[in-house]
Order: sequence, then C-alpha cells, then structure tokens
Amino acid sequence: MPDKRKTSNELTVLFAQYGIESFLESTSLLVVLLEKDGELLSWNPAFDSLKETLPDKTHLKDFLSSSSADTFEALFMDAKRERARARGNLEFAHGNRSGSLACLFVPLPGKRVLFIAEPSAANDLEAVAAELQTTKQRLQRKETELKAVIAQANEVSHTDPLTYLPNRRQIIGDLQREVIFAEQYGTPFAISLLDIDHFKKINDIYGHTVGDEVLRKLADELRQHIRHPDTIGRYGGEEFLLILPHSTVIAATEQAERLCKYVRSLVIRAGEHDISLTISMGVAQYKIRREDWNTFLSRADKALYQAKNNGRDQWAVAEK
Ligand code: GH3
Ligand code: MG
Ligand code: MG
Repeated sequence: MPDKRKTSNELTVLFAQYGIESFLESTSLLVVLLEKDGELLSWNPAFDSLKETLPDKTHLKDFLSSSSADTFEALFMDAKRERARARGNLEFAHGNRSGSLACLFVPLPGKRVLFIAEPSAANDLEAVAAELQTTKQRLQRKETELKAVIAQANEVSHTDPLTYLPNRRQIIGDLQREVIFAEQYGTPFAISLLDIDHFKKINDIYGHTVGDEVLRKLADELRQHIRHPDTIGRYGGEEFLLILPHSTVIAATEQAERLCKYVRSLVIRAGEHDISLTISMGVAQYKIRREDWNTFLSRADKALYQAKNNGRDQWAVAEK
C-alpha cells in the first residue's frame, strides 16, 4: 500500500507549484494523482470517503463499476498518448459517491495523470433519497417492534400471570365501566364474588406448587363454564370476581348454583394427586343511583361471608 502521507504530499507539492494547494483540502472534487499504470499515488480528502470503503485497493479501476472499465482505459490512454486532456463519464461502484461522475484526465510529466472527478448534485440527491428510504423502512420496522412490545406490556399489565385471567386491576376496571354504563342506560347488571373453600388446607397438605396448579386448573374450568358476555377475573389469592352484564340477581344466582354444583363434581389432577374442592359465592345486583362500585363490591363480599358462615359450598344473595 502506498504511504498516504508521503503521496498526499506529492499532490500538495504539485498544487503548491501553482499556489492552489488549499483548494485540494476544501473542494468536493475528487482529485487523484495516478501513476502511469493507473495506480493511486496520492489523493485529496474528498477521495478519502471512497478510498475508505476499499482500503486495500490501489488502482483507480478498482473503484469503478465493471461497465466503466473500458471507458477508463480509453480515457487514461488518450490522456497519456495524446498528452491532452480527456473527458468522460465514469460509474463509481462503491461508497456514498456511487453513480456517474464527470471525469477529467490531465496528462503530467513522467506519464503520470491527474484525475479529477465531479460528483453531480443528481448523484448526491439519489444517495440522500436512498438513505431516506432506508431510514424510513428502519423506522417502520422499529415502530412495528415497539407496538408489539407495548401490546405485550399492556397484556401483561392486565393479566394475572398464574391463571391468565384478567387481574384485579383489569376486572375492577371492567366493573367500574359496567357501573357507568348502568347509570347511563339504566340496564341491570350483577356480580359474584367466588372464593375456594378451605384452600389453605390444600396448600398445607399438598404444598404450594400443587396449590398453584389447582388454582390454574380451576380458573380454566371457571372460564370455560361462564357464558358470553359474562367475564371472570382473579380478584385476590383464591378469590374471583364475575361480572354479568345485562343481568339481574336471578341470572346471577342461577349461574352461582350451576358453578357450585359443577366445581363440587370436579376432580382436579394436580401433581400426582386427584383433588376435589368446593366454592362459596356471594351474589349481588347493582343498585342504580343508590350506590357506587365500592359499596356494591362490599355487599357482594358480605354475601360471600354469609355463604361461608352458612356452611360453605353454596351461594348467598346480598341484602337489597
Ligand atoms: P375459606 O373457606 O374460609 O375461604 O378458607 P381458606 O383456607 O380458603 O381461606 P384463607 O383466606 O384462610 O386462605 C386462603 C389461602 O389461599 C391462603 C393462601 O396461602 C392461599 N393462596 C392465596 N393465593 C395463592 C396462590 O397464588 N397460590 C397458592 N398455592 N395459594 C394461594
Ligand atoms: Mg378460601
Ligand atoms: Mg379468600
């Protein structure tokens, strides 16, 4: 590889002969001093960006597209043979300055040639447009990725990680929306609080991991045994909240009866064990214009407490 500092000096010395060496530093023209065989001897900073893309290449031809190789030879030979300036367009294949450049070959003593190429504004514009396009595509990809991450984060923040049911925040949000809807349109709706009976014993006997599996499987069963548009969420440890839009307490008690009966008949396989359990439920209908979501929930909670007190494995209706 030629020593760049040394060769750069040669070009500067050459220009210094004419007192225009500072021109070399500031111009956007590519200025290269070529040996008689076309080898790069020295070049100015504008050519650096092209040279850096192919640092090992030492011949000007290496930077041209193959279609320009013959034109280069012809112009280069013309300049040397005729000892006259030769002009033509050459395609550069590498770097930001790829595209067609208007080139001038100036013969110098010793069969060296001074090569000057002018980057056209059109080429630069094309490069800018291509870069904009790439940036736009990159941004679109990032946006899609970001949307997926946000969707996932949203999902995670609304979902209980053990049962994959709506978590407490989500199901209470649903309840608050139903209350607003009921207040606006006067439509009845009901809820049930559901709690597993003696769940502590399951943990104590089989261990917490089995307890988790029981919770997960029971949650699946409950989800499958409620009807659209009813929803169920994990309200607390082994406690679930059911929302029954457009329903009275009668529909809610029918559902409670059905669920208590179904869970009673279930055998849940968890770990190596077949486990049976029961549930208790507190049922309530929203009192339009006479309460808010909080008092509504505590009425359902009292009903649940009543069902527990009455012996569990049953439902109770909240006081009016
Ligand atoms: P009751 O019939 O009065 O509801 O009795 P209980 O034993 O179900 O009630 P209690 O509130 O005394 O105990 C609830 C138990 O549920 C205690 C707690 O360790 C367990 N629990 C709560 N969340 C989880 C959980 O995510 N995984 C497991 N394995 N156990 C849980
Ligand atoms: Mg319990
Ligand atoms: Mg409980």
